[in-house]
Amino acid sequence: MNQLLEVNDLVTSFRTAEGKLSAVRGVSFSVDKGETLCIVGESGCGKSITTLSVMGLLPSNGEISRGSIQFSGEELTTKNEEELRKLRGNEISMIFQEPMTALNPVFTIGYQLREPLMIHKRLSKREATQKAITLLDQVGIPHPVSKLKQFPHELSGGMRQRVMIAMALACNPSLLIADEPTTALDVTIQAQILDLIDDLKADLGMGVVMVTHDMGVVAEVADRVMVMYAGEVVEVGTVTEIFEAPKHPYTRGLLASVPNIDDPDHSMEAIPGSLPNLSEEIQGCRFHPRCPFAMDKCMEMEPPLFELSSEHQSKCWLQEVKHYDKQSATSS
Ligand code: SF4
Ligand code: MG
Repeated sequence: MNQLLEVNDLVTSFRTAEGKLSAVRGVSFSVDKGETLCIVGESGCGKSITTLSVMGLLPSNGEISRGSIQFSGEELTTKNEEELRKLRGNEISMIFQEPMTALNPVFTIGYQLREPLMIHKRLSKREATQKAITLLDQVGIPHPVSKLKQFPHELSGGMRQRVMIAMALACNPSLLIADEPTTALDVTIQAQILDLIDDLKADLGMGVVMVTHDMGVVAEVADRVMVMYAGEVVEVGTVTEIFEAPKHPYTRGLLASVPNIDDPDHSMEAIPGSLPNLSEEIQGCRFHPRCPFAMDKCMEMEPPLFELSSEHQSKCWLQEVKHYDKQSATSS
């Protein structure tokens, strides 16, 4: 079986003073072995909540209210905390934006890297130390041997981020979930770490879900791209389809807001307006208040995800005409 992760109709909600609010609204996607899926969208669009739902790491006022999450054929939404913790330490790894949430301040870097290797991979202490040194070297940490004895607070933020990435990769996870993993790092280290993730993906068949708002990173690492807006998937496709033939107006806006290196004078065309508040009920297409192409229909009826190719889908009424053209072409 090539499929590693399959998420179906996921709805994640939060209990708040204003009532129950849905941050993720019926999201479906899959990730194959050896594949990188990038989830993109503005902050607050539900990309981080989607990955936290998969990891079983939602904040205490959050819950999965509908849908299924299958990992290697096993349903995760019915697993208890203990079972999920086992998976997280071994099969599924996550890299967060903030390294201090993943590192334990009272243990040395060496201890934190060695422990999972000794427990999950049954390495001896000597083997685990050797592997820890190799990992630190791979994520671009100079003098790795001396770093083993240091505590997290003795390292700079960038170094801690790299230690956390080394920890996430230590047990050769089948699935790596990375939320803005390299945002805080300088470009050289960022490129080095993206290369390392890419190598592991190719060598070990690791599946990767990467959350990012950086379209440059997407272009470099993604096999497929999923664009989220206000808790929903609005477009999904191969990296080529998304960059060369983006269909949803929101995706086009995201791409247009990327600075053009070849033409620095080209003004960045940011998408006007902001994401709707979670408590705001919007009829029709949730993007219509910001969409330059909005039609009457968009304000009344929610568009379905139109199939544009076997991999490419767009949740926009503009695709309706083309969709029916194609259907009548194939049926005649
Ligand atoms: Fe814009 Fe209408 Fe498409 Fe929504 S459905 S993205 S409002 S054109
Ligand atoms: Mg986020």
